[in-house]
Amino acid sequence: MKLAVAFLATIGATAAFAPAANTVARTSALNMVQQLDLKTGQSQLDTSVVDRFNALPYPDDKVLAEYVWVDAKGECRSKTRTLPVARTEAVDKLPRWNFDGSSTDQAPGDDSEVILRPCRIFKDPFRPRADGLDNILVMCDTYTPAGEAIPTNTRAIAAKAFEGKEDEEVWFGLEQEFTLFNLDQRTPLGWPKNGVPNRAQGPYYCSAGPENSFGRAVTDAMYRCCLYAGLEISGTNGEVMPGQQEYQIGPCVGIDAGDQLFMSRYILQRVCEEFQVYCTLHPKPIVEGDWNGAGMHTNVSTKSMREAGGLDIIKQAIYKLGAKHQEHIAIYGEGNELRLTGKFETASMDEFSFGVANRGASVRIGRDTEADGCGYFEDRRPSSNADPYLVTGKIMATIMEEVEVPEIAPLNRAEA
Ligand code: ADP
Ligand code: MN
Ligand code: MN
Ligand code: MN
Repeated sequence: MKLAVAFLATIGATAAFAPAANTVARTSALNMVQQLDLKTGQSQLDTSVVDRFNALPYPDDKVLAEYVWVDAKGECRSKTRTLPVARTEAVDKLPRWNFDGSSTDQAPGDDSEVILRPCRIFKDPFRPRADGLDNILVMCDTYTPAGEAIPTNTRAIAAKAFEGKEDEEVWFGLEQEFTLFNLDQRTPLGWPKNGVPNRAQGPYYCSAGPENSFGRAVTDAMYRCCLYAGLEISGTNGEVMPGQQEYQIGPCVGIDAGDQLFMSRYILQRVCEEFQVYCTLHPKPIVEGDWNGAGMHTNVSTKSMREAGGLDIIKQAIYKLGAKHQEHIAIYGEGNELRLTGKFETASMDEFSFGVANRGASVRIGRDTEADGCGYFEDRRPSSNADPYLVTGKIMATIMEEVEVPEIAPLNRAEA
């Protein structure tokens, strides 16, 4: 709740909310998977059986709509319904729906209905069809039956920061890092059971080769699904810790960055289901030893930052971020203190810094942006499990404030 106050203080909203908090505590899931045959990188499904059913044609007047929403822990949930084609042609034609909020900690048992309001349609890569129609994924946000955003509806809060600021044309590019594990949830892909890799970090980042790259098939499948779905996925790469990978969503305009990032996380989870691989967004999945954590670097630009003279506006925005460092840290993800240690390409959590081409700073300006005198900046602080609605909304609120803030001297490579 503390986090909510920090956010609300800036955007002047009145509704309180409990922040989305991703956790990896999944004790019951762990018990369940211990009974499963543990396989890595392989589908446990017999495709020849599954394909027989997938080959059945869909009725030509119906579309399957998978309604996706964010739960109380910041994870995606979903359920499917059959709709007449005409109701799926635009987001405002889609019916509202509901779910049992008492099963997701989003409503009390005696008044359990939570209303789902469709926000954004994507194509469903998991249910392709051959008749020229598309089944769909629908990103939704969540309301009480009386029409109030429920406390965990961070989209509604962030939307206030973007409201009326359309002329700014703010773009976000979100770098989503994630870590793949075997189903035991203890052994990252490529790691020996109960042990550590025999080579330190170094060869794995953007690597090729069976001794370096682990889980590429998962990332590539996810990439294809995101492209098919219509997401602005701009790339992927292998990360520094073996078993860790990244993809980027964006640039996306305003609140759409959060919609797309959450839908991409949902797609990633669905793909991991197929591969029977466990994916965590925890910011520091391996705390012992010298292994990188996982972040959600957030790249930002407004129209004026992208135009001639934009560098000055970028610097002003960075000084404003510096003045609110702790407020931002408070909503930048749970467990981030394990990652933001000042080591492993991170800055200290206690102190704000910025620099050109410096990956040890809180905020980085790229070399191209400096050379061109315009472009974008990268906030490197958000953790991989951060809520993209909160992060983008908070950045927007902070950089749009009309306040005088002190200049901050850049921390460039030589001094870092
Ligand atoms: P890094 O060098 O930090 O690993 P990446 O290439 O992984 O950077 O990610 C950069 C992200 O920034 C991409 O998603 C890209 O689409 C996005 N991006 C590029 N230009 C802009 C811009 N002007 N404003 C916001 N985001 C941008
Ligand atoms: Mn990157
Ligand atoms: Mn990265
Ligand atoms: Mn980055």
